[in-house]
Amino acid sequence: MTSTNCIFCMIVAGDIPAQKVLETENVIAFRDIAPKASVHVLVAPKVHVPNVAAAAREIPEILAEMATVAQQVADAECDGEFRWIFNTGPSAGQTVFHVHGHVMNGGSLGWDA
Ligand code: 5GP
Ligand code: ZN
Repeated sequence: MTSTNCIFCMIVAGDIPAQKVLETENVIAFRDIAPKASVHVLVAPKVHVPNVAAAAREIPEILAEMATVAQQVADAECDGEFRWIFNTGPSAGQTVFHVHGHVMNGGSLGWDA
């Protein structure tokens, strides 16, 4: 299941390059091209699903696999502790409509003391 004109489907297919950090049967993890933290990795399913709620409905096992991959990335890169952000909808900053969780190391996002 791929979507034409989807940049992350193209990354999954190997049609455009990405700095892959981890890959499983159903999930890919690669570095964000414009990092907002010193660790900033995107974790996405290989199938095209538009957002996290659709992933929960349509591919719950793969969403769980994404969580495991996110933890593995954090184990390797930031002592196992991380933020996992799903921008959902344009007003919340979603720009790529192929679900992906941003794995980021800690640091201030504005709600920390
Ligand atoms: P969103 O704004 O949809 O939550 O996140 C999309 C993210 O994908 C952004 O942080 C953006 O920097 C990243 N991004 C967009 N295009 C590419 C690309 O071609 N390669 C990689 N590695 N990241 C991308
Ligand atoms: Zn896609």
